[in-house]
Amino acid sequence: MTNPILACRGCGATKPEPDGTPTDLFTSLHCGDCPPWTCDDCGQTCSMQEPCQCWIVLDGMSIADIKAVFAADGTFNTNPEGGR
Ligand SMILES: [Zn+2]
Ligand SMILES: [Zn+2]
Repeated sequence: MTNPILACRGCGATKPEPDGTPTDLFTSLHCGDCPPWTCDDCGQTCSMQEPCQCWIVLDGMSIADIKAVFAADGTFNTNPEGGR
């Protein structure tokens, strides 16, 4: 018995088990099933079909690439050792 994995915070979508997509590691803020939302950063209405300029589309990226994005951004610590 495993808990469902939250795949999307926008619409609350879950999946029963890891399926090899980026949401295994990072809960998506929005997914293709979400209704259009208003971006907190730029205030524009955006959707998966028409994302605003602040939205980084993680679909299609490898997990390594995604980790690099978060590491470069400094908002997600992929190295708990701290590196120094
Ligand atoms: Zn969603
Ligand atoms: Zn935006």
